[in-house]
Amino acid sequence: MLNSSTNLPAKLPINLIDQFGRTVDYIRLSITDRCDFRCVYCMAEKMTFLPREEVLSLEECVRLVKVFVSLGVSKVRITGGEPLVRKNALWLLEEIGKLARLNELVLTTNGSQLENQAQDLKNAGVKRINISVDSLDAARFKKITRTGELDKVLRGIQAAKLVGFENIKLNSVLMRGVNDDELLTLVNFAIAQAIDISFIEEMPLGDVNHTRESTFCSNVDTLKILQSEFPLVSSTESTGGPARYWRVANTDTKIGFISPHSHNFCESCNRVRISCKGELYLCLGQEDKVDLMPLLRNNPENDQPLIDAILGSMATKPKGHDFDLKRAEPAVIRFMSHTGG
Ligand code: SAM
Ligand code: SF4
Repeated sequence: MLNSSTNLPAKLPINLIDQFGRTVDYIRLSITDRCDFRCVYCMAEKMTFLPREEVLSLEECVRLVKVFVSLGVSKVRITGGEPLVRKNALWLLEEIGKLARLNELVLTTNGSQLENQAQDLKNAGVKRINISVDSLDAARFKKITRTGELDKVLRGIQAAKLVGFENIKLNSVLMRGVNDDELLTLVNFAIAQAIDISFIEEMPLGDVNHTRESTFCSNVDTLKILQSEFPLVSSTESTGGPARYWRVANTDTKIGFISPHSHNFCESCNRVRISCKGELYLCLGQEDKVDLMPLLRNNPENDQPLIDAILGSMATKPKGHDFDLKRAEPAVIRFMSHTGG
């Protein structure tokens, strides 16, 4: 019996296992390179976005996700750009939410659309949601995002809390001299809201004239400061990814540290990324990729070429990334909004 959505026999126990024996069961799919914000570490002030025809259609996104799920992927994160500014993103999430073999559908958003969309997202099957907030000061928030309104995002967080996702996590990029003085404020906010928070080390992506070394905040230092302020209990929880978690004792809050610089997490990497152009990136910090869009478009009725390319890509997944802040040029000249954070 063939699976109706792909050419694979139903329940065939295929797993994506790379050349280093790591099982890939998690994909992060960027559904747009566009965004209503222009965060300083993520985008240039003036961005040229891709023409529509160069971006995967939502139908193509669903087809891709179905193929990956048939190959053993059990977790899908939808990201961008800002995924919720893409027209009909909800339809896509509903279609993915229906896939029986998928365990987890999760979303990363800047929160700007959550006030109106939180309930629909929950209904579509989104289980957990990450919301990026780097400052709780409205003027500074505007400076970092260039266009964002903090109030709107805060209302979005409240809406997300009301509809009751399994988990809500804030993502904050700390930058020295920009927002690092808000470390405790951000954690206290998360504790007061009974939600989690992760600190992401800024990654040197995309901007050739980067000054990241001067603003870089190491998570090693961030953890030390937090340990002197809060009773932190090391958590064994792992997403198989770059985050390491600590629970704040006697609260409902966990603090995560996503530390591409200070910790090498590559040995347990379980994920690949798909850009909004259908490029399968095997590592966030390396150029290795496979172009899936031509395979999708040239074979509208046949998933086998796509399946072969995905299986074949496992032999090329790099051992790890290489971010060196002292290098004159970023490791990868590619914005996170393109690859999907
Ligand atoms: N627009 C959504 C958002 O902001 O959450 C989803 C896409 S965004 C690219 C995903 C995450 O990537 C955000 O948490 C953002 O802070 C992070 N990010 C973007 N550029 C980064 C960089 N250069 N270094 C570290 N994190 C970055
Ligand atoms: Fe947009 Fe997210 Fe990038 Fe900020 S981090 S510019 S919100 S895609």
